[in-house]
Amino acid sequence: MKAPITIALQPMGVVEDSLISFLQYELAFLFGAVEVRPRVLIPETVRVPERGQLVGGLVLSALAGPEGADAVLGVVDEDLFAANLNFVFGLAHGQKAIISLARLRQEFYGLPPDHDLFRDRAKKEAVHELGHVFGLPHCDDGECVMHFSNSIVDTDFKGSRYCRRCQKMLEGFGVEVS
Ligand SMILES: [Zn+2]
Ligand SMILES: [Zn+2]
Repeated sequence: MKAPITIALQPMGVVEDSLISFLQYELAFLFGAVEVRPRVLIPETVRVPERGQLVGGLVLSALAGPEGADAVLGVVDEDLFAANLNFVFGLAHGQKAIISLARLRQEFYGLPPDHDLFRDRAKKEAVHELGHVFGLPHCDDGECVMHFSNSIVDTDFKGSRYCRRCQKMLEGFGVEVS
């Protein structure tokens, strides 16, 4: 992989434009370049109506590959689950990753809206899933963005950056981050 990295940002279904612009700016700052793709529809086949959720793995499969980019990040504003997990904040496989915004709003937890916190959480989840795409495993450091989030409390505790060790590992894979 050569630096700078190019990331394709793919809104799936209805996603607020301001959040996409925010992620575009933040990820471009961190990795290099971000191209935003036109919104695509979420196929009905990935939906499990009785759970009110989408099958994470199927959403990831439905996401088109990065083509000319190094990675593609799908952004979904619906709740995802995976085989053994009641919900997931995101998933990554190969050069593709997705994040869900559904559990990132304070309203989801019965609290008053906090727009900055919402954005901050979305950025952390995006940087986390892209870290997996670029080869990083989960990190033991609770403040590292690659720490696994069991709940939103973990997401809020961790930072939005890779720890020194994860950053070194990324450099070893040819990925330079600012
Ligand atoms: Zn993870
Ligand atoms: Zn780390």
